[in-house]
Amino acid sequence: MDWLSLSEVADMTAGTLTGSGSQTVRRISKDTRTLVPGDLYLALRGEAHDGNLYARTAIEKGAAAAILDRPDAAGDLPQDFPVIVVPDSLTALHRMASAWRDRLAIKVACITGSSGKTSTKEFTAAVLSVRYRVTKTEGNLNNHIGLPLSILAASSADDAAVWELGMNHAGEIAPLADLARPDLGIITNIGVAHIEYLGSREGIAAEKSELLAALGSNGSAVLPNEDDFADYLSTRTKARVIRAGLEGGQVMATNISMDVDGCRFTICADGEFLPAYLPAPGVHMVKNALLAAATGLEFGLSLEECVEGLSTARLTGGRLTRKTIREVTILDDTYNANPDSMKAALATLAALPGRGKRVAVLGRMGELGEHAEEGYRTVGTTAANTVQTLIAVGPETAPLKEAARRGGMSDLHTVDSPEEAAALLKQILGPGDIVLVKGSRAARMERVIQSFEI
Ligand code: ATP
Ligand code: MG
Repeated sequence: MDWLSLSEVADMTAGTLTGSGSQTVRRISKDTRTLVPGDLYLALRGEAHDGNLYARTAIEKGAAAAILDRPDAAGDLPQDFPVIVVPDSLTALHRMASAWRDRLAIKVACITGSSGKTSTKEFTAAVLSVRYRVTKTEGNLNNHIGLPLSILAASSADDAAVWELGMNHAGEIAPLADLARPDLGIITNIGVAHIEYLGSREGIAAEKSELLAALGSNGSAVLPNEDDFADYLSTRTKARVIRAGLEGGQVMATNISMDVDGCRFTICADGEFLPAYLPAPGVHMVKNALLAAATGLEFGLSLEECVEGLSTARLTGGRLTRKTIREVTILDDTYNANPDSMKAALATLAALPGRGKRVAVLGRMGELGEHAEEGYRTVGTTAANTVQTLIAVGPETAPLKEAARRGGMSDLHTVDSPEEAAALLKQILGPGDIVLVKGSRAARMERVIQSFEI
């Protein structure tokens, strides 16, 4: 945000300011561990922690002021320290973000979908940065706290925003879209992530489509052309629909080739064909890149500028990031996993050039509920067709291994921990081999790579 006076913040949040109101702030912090001097400290209450209890720490670290909803719990604070007292800090955060959004004259692109939101966000921001000053979601801050903070991180000097919207449960996307007020909405795909809470893919599609329903008739909806739900999604919006994909749509890619560092392809839009490079491997990443390019075109960039932006895109860690250890190539995809992203990663492993053995070390996947067994089985069947060796980590992965065996695979191993997987890798890998390491966040499969490195 820009510099705001505390009285302005009190107005925006419908709070009561004690102490001087003339001071100004331009950054909000909800965490005293990362608070820097001059920040406005926002005391949120979570399940385990009450931010009000940390007000004194915030002051010690140099906070300029604080928003508190349980000032009594904060203990004795210095008399002259400005505090904005609100009934509920989370509501205050939303009010402030909404008021700040009103003041921003920027083009806003919002992204949701089952997999690939953060990757597509990075690609879209890279594309738009060729022409505009862009603000974007930091990391993965995509929920009811992350989005308002992302909105408040935008300044009046920015021309465009790229914000990620995430969800675990039904009913979460609409309020986020209300807050962000997007000009353009991107859906990356409809998969099975979080199906435990949404019941079915239809349920997931309906929930994601709330982003499209929030677009006005001047807006644009950018949809994945090959998705089973693309037709359904296009009925859910008044906005102009642009479809991007490998086999058709207004923005397309052909002649895709890849190595561990990235993909080359020909991008096609409006009858124009250009060679493009994306510094991330995987056909699924090309699909994400096409959504980003379509957004660039909608926001007035030329295809050439979109291509330039894509070539500079960088993914954040753990998303098919390449590492080379003792002449073994490791694809670190340990950030997270669901059946769709597992299958996409396996397909990438199989598509890479080179003669080395292909090995997959796969851990458990979360939030699949009653669909877990089926999810593991589809991944196992894909593994049988794509890799020579499979190391399944943890007892939950038994159906994955069983499906791989039924698919005709014989080099199968089960281990109990990431460390055991690393020990096994040390025995079986040689120079030139390529290993994919992947599992849900909770499985912490990055430990496989850490132990292998030693
Ligand atoms: P989260 O829900 O955790 O925020 P996300 O939707 O932001 O995830 P990313 O962080 O971009 O997704 O990627 C997560 C995983 O999904 C990675 O393993 C990545 O390789 C994979 N992935 C990215 N794009 C796609 C895609 N289009 N289809 C399938 N898998 C994908
Ligand atoms: Mg994400």
